[in-house]
Amino acid sequence: MKKAACLIFLVSQVIVIISFWAWNHIHNPMGNVLTGESAGQLLAYGRLAGLLATFAILIQIILAGRVKWVETAFGLDRLFHMHAIIGFSFLIFLFAHPILVTAGHALQADTSQKEQFIDFLRNWEGVFAATIGAAIMVAAVGLSVPYMRRKMKYETWYYTHLSFYVAIALAFGHQLEVGSDFTDNRWFAGYWYALYIFVFANLLYYSLIRPIWFFLRHRFFVSKVVAESDDVTSVYIEGKKMESFKVDAGQFMIVRFWGRGVRWQAHPFSMSCFPDGKKIRLTIKRLGDFTEKIPELKPGTPVVIDGPHGIFNASRCGASKVLMIAGGIGITPIRSIAEELVAKKHDVVILYANRDEKSIVFRKELDDLAASSAGHLRVIHVVSNDPGWNGEKGRIDNEKITRIVPDVLERKVYLCGPPPMMKSTRKILAKIGVPKSHIFYEKFAL
Ligand SMILES: Cc1cc2nc3c(=O)[nH]c(=O)nc-3n(C[C@H](O)[C@H](O)[C@H](O)COP(=O)(O)OP(=O)(O)OC[C@H]3O[C@@H](n4cnc5c(N)ncnc54)[C@H](O)[C@@H]3O)c2cc1C
Repeated sequence: MKKAACLIFLVSQVIVIISFWAWNHIHNPMGNVLTGESAGQLLAYGRLAGLLATFAILIQIILAGRVKWVETAFGLDRLFHMHAIIGFSFLIFLFAHPILVTAGHALQADTSQKEQFIDFLRNWEGVFAATIGAAIMVAAVGLSVPYMRRKMKYETWYYTHLSFYVAIALAFGHQLEVGSDFTDNRWFAGYWYALYIFVFANLLYYSLIRPIWFFLRHRFFVSKVVAESDDVTSVYIEGKKMESFKVDAGQFMIVRFWGRGVRWQAHPFSMSCFPDGKKIRLTIKRLGDFTEKIPELKPGTPVVIDGPHGIFNASRCGASKVLMIAGGIGITPIRSIAEELVAKKHDVVILYANRDEKSIVFRKELDDLAASSAGHLRVIHVVSNDPGWNGEKGRIDNEKITRIVPDVLERKVYLCGPPPMMKSTRKILAKIGVPKSHIFYEKFAL
């Protein structure tokens, strides 16, 4: 329902933009440009490309801005995925706009395209700044390639990506100064301003004001730091009026610990315990420059929380039987959702994969939960590389799933783990015949 509402909203904005554009060009003082000579048509379609490129950029801001009403419909990981796809495809409009507009004007002025482009840069208000803005956008999109190939640090990519806002500011002026779609139609200009205000108000509220407001209201702080294994640490967070900070089991938050050496980075981590209205627990695996500092966090360190986010939660389940598959640190949201499902008397099986016995996180907690679940929870550990292990050995595969969980087709499946494991497990589940709509998963990558 929410998804449909968001899509209707999106499509309706595209229709409004195209309608304004078409109206402008059909009711042009010189006559209908869309059926006129080729220079006029080049200009018209060049302008449309500019409008759509700008609209795509505004959509990108909403997709990446952790905007709650969109995020609860799709889930933040899906939104970031769409952001990546649009990020590359909008370049078509970004390039088409100057090419078509230059060609159209050159044809009208009977000059070369090079001369025309130089004229734009020299004499047309805002066009030079917009060209710099476009170059920044292309560079920022280009830098996403080394990041996606894991050849660039997240932070380097993130901070270069912020240059997009500078680019948007640089490009804004020329739209209203020289864009005849707006100069000739004040209704369209008004709509365009409203669109910008709407998008940036959402960004500001959800990415900045809301986390600051939560911090001022709840004064979150680290209350305890507990080592779970050699490379996994749980951080307990408490604060004021915690009962009014609504989090679902399985959701994640983007946290900034206001301590030495960590305060300039914000990272996403999932709730690893059932939200009891008193505390938050995040359980964090050492992986890189930020997570390696987590064990040194001092109790009392203030925490700024952006979130909670995510739709990987128990309320999506809609079945009495559930299979949960976790790999490594992917157990964190699974652990918290399992407790809620068991409390609601679902029949839950957890298959938990680890490399060796000592990597198993929450072993005792899971055993205790199973022991007190009156048969509602079974936990099976699968260990891939530990000669001393006496339980299930190897990886979670077709044979293990169908043997250990013969009624798998009657179950909804929750899946969280390292990306390669998630990919292979989804393939296995599809082979077994579990419908896609019965599989919920959370990627630990945005
Ligand atoms: C929705 C979600 C939930 C997560 N839950 C948990 C959890 O409960 N426990 C846990 O241990 N890990 C969790 N992670 C993974 C965790 O965020 C990364 O391991 C952590 O950010 C790595 O930071 P680093 O600088 O130490 O490592 P790096 O080596 O710098 O980063 C390793 C990888 O983590 C990702 N990453 C790094 N920084 C960020 C960031 N600021 N935002 C988004 N992704 C980033 C990038 O893909 C990067 O390639 C979760 C990730 C996501 C997206």
